[in-house]
Amino acid sequence: MRYSNCFIPTLRDVPADAEVISHQLLLRAGYIRRVTSGVYDYLPLALRVLRKIEAVIREEMNRAGAQELLMPMVQPGELWEKSERMEKYGPELLRFTDRHSHESCLGPTHEEVICDLVARELRSYKQLPMNLYQIQSKFRDEIRPRFGLMRGREFIMKDAYSFHADADCLAAEYDKMFATYQRIFTRFGLKFRPVEADTGSIGGSDSHEFHVLADSGEDLIAHCADCDYAANVEKAISVRPCISATPAALSVVETPGVSSVEDVAGFLSVDIGQLVKTLIYRIQGGAQDGAIVAACVAGDDQLQEIKLAHVAGADSVEMATDDDIASIGGVTGFVGPQQLSVRVLVDNRLHGATGLIAGANRRDAHVAGLDFGRDVPEAEFVDLRETRAGDRCSRCGGEMQLSRGIEVGQVFALGKRYTEPMEVLFQDRQGKRSVATMGCYGIGVSRLMAAIVEQCNDEAGISWPLALAPFQVGLISMGRSDAVRQTSEAIYRQFLEAGIDVLWDERNERPGVKFKDFELIGLPFQVVVGDRGLKEGAVEIGWRQQSRSSVPVADVVRVALSELEQARSSEAVN
Ligand code: ATP
Ligand code: MG
Repeated sequence: MRYSNCFIPTLRDVPADAEVISHQLLLRAGYIRRVTSGVYDYLPLALRVLRKIEAVIREEMNRAGAQELLMPMVQPGELWEKSERMEKYGPELLRFTDRHSHESCLGPTHEEVICDLVARELRSYKQLPMNLYQIQSKFRDEIRPRFGLMRGREFIMKDAYSFHADADCLAAEYDKMFATYQRIFTRFGLKFRPVEADTGSIGGSDSHEFHVLADSGEDLIAHCADCDYAANVEKAISVRPCISATPAALSVVETPGVSSVEDVAGFLSVDIGQLVKTLIYRIQGGAQDGAIVAACVAGDDQLQEIKLAHVAGADSVEMATDDDIASIGGVTGFVGPQQLSVRVLVDNRLHGATGLIAGANRRDAHVAGLDFGRDVPEAEFVDLRETRAGDRCSRCGGEMQLSRGIEVGQVFALGKRYTEPMEVLFQDRQGKRSVATMGCYGIGVSRLMAAIVEQCNDEAGISWPLALAPFQVGLISMGRSDAVRQTSEAIYRQFLEAGIDVLWDERNERPGVKFKDFELIGLPFQVVVGDRGLKEGAVEIGWRQQSRSSVPVADVVRVALSELEQARSSEAVN
């Protein structure tokens, strides 16, 4: 492409509302523009990169035996009623009514539509297994769209769905998809980590997320320094001994106006880990919808709400109000686990601990010497705490570490969560009607583009891996002489003939402007044609952000091609 024919609206300044580097660079380098909250235009440069990302994903999915199809974005509400997700999915599901008063929604994911399709076509076990995928726009009315493409409302996803006659076959496909995802993210040259994951609103049993490691990541992942255990903190289990004091009789201590764990620990001169935090929640969804529960963790731990929701059989939990707390016998600021009229769930770390300090359910008072076994016999011990750096690994005893990650993919062994209500049936080997079992596998394609920029950038701009760059070569003409123009054009044509993506900057701009733009948009290889070099019959070539060398005009395309070829074979991407 000739630069003057390209739509690359670069910006000099960092846009004020862009917090993370990928959002800033994709805006500044003219890749994306915001249409409305969480909804973006992908400009020509972005589309080139997206197409290259998609090509790698397609190649690997096809290699794994999956078949591509395309489903609609608009989905009928009845299907969501049938899967019992119409209410469950909540406000992220954008619903609307058409002119015939049919309730519809914009697809945030496609389990319902694919099950409906497969249920209508599947007859016999002979048609199984089958893995179908698409690359398509999804819509989720996210409460807080942010970080540009990272958390959009409309975004591009690769979603695959597999159907099987039995659990063993699903397990084999799950492993194959896991390996396929590892290949895909390795080919993108990313530092990433697969982790055990919560299954969220999708449901099912086994699940892993794939995280690109980046400080800007919204997720926290816990991993062992010594073994390969790694999990999202929503799910990670780890061990830390409890700070137990000498067993003592239960006593009441006056703590006038002192209620936070930090303040109480300071006031009583004890370690914060000796305190118990008693948190009161209201359950949302599930059989106990609307019920109140009490949850206790050690004073130096944080409660992981997703774990609590699971233990309580809920879709989610929300902090109870002061009135809720009073209604179960608690006093806000001084809540403790004793004599509450609700289920008391206590984190395993507090099991067997003695000499604890907790709220007394009386204004301005705490109890000391608490022992759950003795004083709160109805307490149920469960895993509720969030893993902290320095905890011990529950598998090997090694040290747990925390990293931030960007979730770019997730695989789920769904089992019969959808196939049962959606009646995906087939005739098995014995001639019996059976329910198929299912897996699903997503990759956030547009989020992936942002995640790659998070890992591949420097002070000058984006540094795309060669295989993903919108153009591999940037050809810069310096000056406006006939010699420069003619030589540039000849080189440009040779690159095109060799099948190389080349962007030729023939604009009437100062060299400084051209170099800045090329560094910003992140083209890996530069060829610079100027009068000074041409006097010696040479042009300059070199990698982005590295020094250039002088090459005779006649050799330039050959030398550049061989450098690109060498880099391609050494880069993870090919
Ligand atoms: P998150 O926890 O980040 O909200 P999710 O677990 O709900 O994501 P999945 O249902 O697993 O998302 O969707 C598959 C993939 O789609 C995710 O791994 C992620 O890469 C991508 N994705 C999900 N939500 C968004 C979004 N709002 N914007 C961009 N990509 C997204
Ligand atoms: Mg997910």
